[in-house]
Amino acid sequence: MEVQSIRAIPLEHSLSPGSAFGGTRGVTETRTATLIKLVSDDGTVGWGEAFAPPRTVAQLIDEEFAEAVIGLTPWDAESLADDVYTGTIGGYHFGRGPFVQSALTGIEVALWDLRGKLLGKPIHELLGGRSRSSVTPYASTMYITEWDQDPASPMQEAVEEEFTAAKIKIGRSVEDDRERVRIAREILGDDAPLMVDYNGNYTVSGALESIRAISEFDITWVEEPLPPEDTEGYRELGQKIDVPLAAGEAHFGRFEFTDLIRSGAIDVVQPNLGRCGGFAQAEYIAQVATTNNVKVRPHVWNSAVGVAAALQFTATVPDYPQRADLANEATLFEFDRSENPLRDELLTDSLDPSDGTLSVPTEPGLGIEIDESAVERFAVDY
Ligand SMILES: [Mg+2]
Repeated sequence: MEVQSIRAIPLEHSLSPGSAFGGTRGVTETRTATLIKLVSDDGTVGWGEAFAPPRTVAQLIDEEFAEAVIGLTPWDAESLADDVYTGTIGGYHFGRGPFVQSALTGIEVALWDLRGKLLGKPIHELLGGRSRSSVTPYASTMYITEWDQDPASPMQEAVEEEFTAAKIKIGRSVEDDRERVRIAREILGDDAPLMVDYNGNYTVSGALESIRAISEFDITWVEEPLPPEDTEGYRELGQKIDVPLAAGEAHFGRFEFTDLIRSGAIDVVQPNLGRCGGFAQAEYIAQVATTNNVKVRPHVWNSAVGVAAALQFTATVPDYPQRADLANEATLFEFDRSENPLRDELLTDSLDPSDGTLSVPTEPGLGIEIDESAVERFAVDY
């Protein structure tokens, strides 16, 4: 089986005017994704997602990757990643950069999808076996909104949808943080895991003040209280608080992740299967993380293709280490509840988190079937 064609497909859905939303670092007016479609010589199709500005990453794939990808077999996923660091793709100047790593990820995941379909096995079986057949989806919700949304309403919706865990956006001020967490905890109930996400909007002193102000509400992890590049700040903060620190959605490639994990700065690492470097890099990251007593919980804010990739990966993640403060935690899996038809409409059979569990697909490859008419509906020119 050889790759005969590659197509990068930038997708975009514009939110209606006035309905932009996001986190403390800003709101978004669109939801986007870039799908990668590989077609092999026997007609098998492999899909992946590159999670980066769509037109830019599509252009990058055409310019830097396309020629090298034609003729690859499903067994070349790992060597493609190596080429990005040492060969001509991206070159040693740009290979480790966010855009190249995102493009690599989309193609690498699509090669794994082909590999699974060739062997008739879901990717999690090929990655070292299934540690679990389902995960506990948590609602990513209570966004910072452009409109004056009552913060209680999205959490009430999540509870009505039977989510048993949630993550909310905070980080605008200590008072606001405390009030939002109080509301979330009240609606979610005392026993449900609750996480908070600052999107890197504080310095150490502000983060410390905020985390202390919300500590009575039993937070499962605190996500990106500091900018992703402030590793030393994470270390300093971690020494002063008892709540686990999480980061990784803005890290790229195995070298950055290794530095982050080995620095001792974080307790939970969050690679995204649309930009961390692909399945092989994610598995390496998971091994380094668990060897260094760091939990692995992917960041998932992708289209359905990226969600499926994260789900295949999460099925394989070791339970180790059994930290006391996370020991009884289910395998939490991010499930975004904001408006995104790219998450909800691209599959013939949508991933369903509605009863508090999300099953890991067992069909070959990513285990999903793409509705190509839906893909074309959101495709944009570049
Ligand atoms: Mg986040």
